[in-house]
Amino acid sequence: MIRVSLSYLVLIYLVLMLAPIFGAWLFSEWRRQQRERAAFRHVLRCKLCATEYADATSALLPRCPHCGALNERRQRARL
Ligand SMILES: [Zn+2]
Repeated sequence: MIRVSLSYLVLIYLVLMLAPIFGAWLFSEWRRQQRERAAFRHVLRCKLCATEYADATSALLPRCPHCGALNERRQRARL
């Protein structure tokens, strides 16, 4: 028989109960970031006039619809 103190038993119980909650929280946060990244994938901000616009084309330098300036696509860091 394994002898375990009451405080150690409480610690084991807490770890076993909180680990799935923490895992579910991490998973939902990862899913939220994925949705946010997909929603703003084609949103650009003009460096000249600060207008935000959507460009779904694959052009390397999309043109701003407000002032006509060419803007680079922002490379987002992967986590
Ligand atoms: Zn512009």
